[in-house]
This record gives sequence, structure tokens and C-alpha cells, in this order.
Amino acid sequence: MARPAWPGRRGWIRDAWTHRTCLQRALCARLLRVDDFVSYWSDLPAPWRRCLHLAWESLSEGSVPVGSVITDGSGAIVAEGRNRAFGDPPPGPGLGGTYVAHAEINALASLPPGDYPDHTIWSSLEPCFMCSAAIFHSHVGTARYAAADPLMAGVSDLPDINDWVRSRWPDRVGPLAGPLGIAAGALHQVWHLRRKPEGVVAVTLRDADPGIAEVAVRMAASGPDTTLAQTLGGVWDDLVALAWLQDGG
Ligand SMILES: [Zn+2]
Repeated sequence: MARPAWPGRRGWIRDAWTHRTCLQRALCARLLRVDDFVSYWSDLPAPWRRCLHLAWESLSEGSVPVGSVITDGSGAIVAEGRNRAFGDPPPGPGLGGTYVAHAEINALASLPPGDYPDHTIWSSLEPCFMCSAAIFHSHVGTARYAAADPLMAGVSDLPDINDWVRSRWPDRVGPLAGPLGIAAGALHQVWHLRRKPEGVVAVTLRDADPGIAEVAVRMAASGPDTTLAQTLGGVWDDLVALAWLQDGG
């Protein structure tokens, strides 16, 4: 069966957004606290902003755009990492130039052996099974992620393998509601769209959420000198509209 002409679905997002009344849109903006991109971005917790910047650095390098930071009990960022699959290793502990150079692995590499129940690892994308196991082995108490990863659906069932793993499994919080979660998911898709736009990964992600995939197509079209702020600002209206629809409209 022929696949629907999905790039045209941008019109669907537009229609859903513009066909609301001005009052509804104003209420939506107030509920989401997103009067504009700049204020929304500046209001984000510092770990999320850093995760997105790190993901953007990975994309600029040619690696998979995923970023991660670790905060201590006071909320201070104590470690960070990003995907370096196609880049060099970081100056400090961590991996580069290998498929296992994931963002969370590179953030966790800076933690010496110990117990970190009050620490939180933040990731722009849902940790995969490798990184989820690494978080478990690093004794970090909480894992937060911005975007769900449809390719890793079911990874949250890992603690069900036995009681020991379940008793020490970190709290897992995500995906993040609102524009940031959508932006982080779309950013991840940009890499796959540029690499193999009709590959199985890009198609699977597109089928999982055509709206986010549509935003990713727009982001992927941005030029090489475009900044993260310019890219997110350029799709801001669609991010808000999708967040609103996910929230029930
Ligand atoms: Zn991973």
C-alpha cells in the first residue's frame, strides 16, 4: 500500500492551531507558559538547556544529537556528556568514535564509584537499554528524559527481569510534556533524516509520530551555520501547536 504523502501533514498542524479561537490560543499559551520562544527557553531548568546544547553540538559534529548531564542533590551540574559516535573522545573520561559513545555513558564516565541516590541524570532522549543499564550500575537515583524514543519502547520493563534489579532500579521520569520534549525528539530525528531519509529508523520514527517527524523535516532543512536557537525558534509555532494537541487541545 502506498504511504500517504506525509510532508503535507504540516497543513494538519497548522489547521489544528489556526482554527482555534484567539481566546483558546491565548489560554493555551498561558497554560503552557510559552508566550514566546525566548522566555520559554530562559525559563527552562539549566539541565534541560544544557542537554539540548550538547545534543546540538553532537549534530554539528555529525554524531547522533543526544545530550546528557548529571546533577547532584543541590541541583548543580556535576557531569555532562554527549553522543560522540562519529567524533573524538572527550578531553576527560568518556568514549568517542564508537557506537557505544552514547551521551549518558559519557556523562556517567565522570562519576567515580559510589552511591548517588540524590543525583539525577538528565537526557534529551529516553535512555536506551545500554544506557539504562549503565545508570543502574552507576547507582544514580533518578533518570529524567525529555523525549520518548519509539525505538526503545519497552525499555522501562527492564527492571522486571528480577527482584534485585527492580529494588535498585533508578526512578525514571519522562517524557517531558510541552515543546521541549517535542523539540528534543525532532532533533534526534534530524540526524536520521539527513543520513537515510527513507531508512528503517527514519520511517519507524515517522510512523510513530508524524507530527514530530514533520517538525524534524523542517529542522533538517536548516543550514550548516544555523544556531540551535534559530532552529528551534524557526519551528516554535509548530512545537507549541503539537504540545497543545498532546495536552488535549
Ligand atoms: Zn544509550
